[in-house]
Amino acid sequence: MINRLAASSLPADAPAFLRSPEAVSEIEYLGPEPDRWRSPAEPELAAAQAPEHFINLELADALGPLPHRRFDFEARVFAAGQRPEKIGLQPWEATEVWERLKSALREYRRLSTAHQETRSVEQAALFYAGWLGHYVGDGSQPLHTTIHYNGWTGPNPHGYTTGHQIHWQFEGPFVAANLHEPEARAQMTPLEPIRGDIFNTYVAYLRHTHTYVEKVYQLQKAGGFTGKGTAESRQFTAQRLAAGASMLRDMIYEAWIESGKPVPEAA
Ligand SMILES: [Zn+2]
Repeated sequence: MINRLAASSLPADAPAFLRSPEAVSEIEYLGPEPDRWRSPAEPELAAAQAPEHFINLELADALGPLPHRRFDFEARVFAAGQRPEKIGLQPWEATEVWERLKSALREYRRLSTAHQETRSVEQAALFYAGWLGHYVGDGSQPLHTTIHYNGWTGPNPHGYTTGHQIHWQFEGPFVAANLHEPEARAQMTPLEPIRGDIFNTYVAYLRHTHTYVEKVYQLQKAGGFTGKGTAESRQFTAQRLAAGASMLRDMIYEAWIESGKPVPEAA
């Protein structure tokens, strides 16, 4: 739903090949693509990519400011005697896939300017945009940003659930049964250009999502994700879907704008 909302709300000055009905369908199809990489039939892939869906910000922040580059973070994690797959790699994966999209769009511009065939690069860009959407969608779900990702851990004075159902209960059956495109679309924000560094912007997005972790547990405790839930839980969930869709739309658009800028000199 997030991918479809984002692709279908790109502005008119984004390339038409990203906004056509076929493009919206393809980007929508690719939304769950990284979850198709969890099969035990592909064990190496499943292990390598699973940490790219989340980041436990409490654990990551305990190691200091987040470095921009994946290996710098992983080196720090190993130096602390920990493992990256226990902490998560969400912002690095999202940044890298966004940069793949930007690279493809730069190639699209080059081929267009040279009056060459662009169909192949259009296919590549659609794949990157759809792939990116998975992580941006995950990043709108508070439980993808926390050690409390599936049941409260540690001191629990408010008696939040410690069972391992809340994560899927919220993002799976509850959304499927109660949330539809119009409710989420109605809460999308206007197109907002991304100013400044993409990694920092994306981390800020995750940190905003993270402010809702306890809210998810409060709603769950009040029966908000059972059956039809409550007016508050439906409103909250629509707002989270809208946040993901708005961020994805802004990131795809920004990749397009940035792809038109001169490439800096190699450092
Ligand atoms: Zn995921």
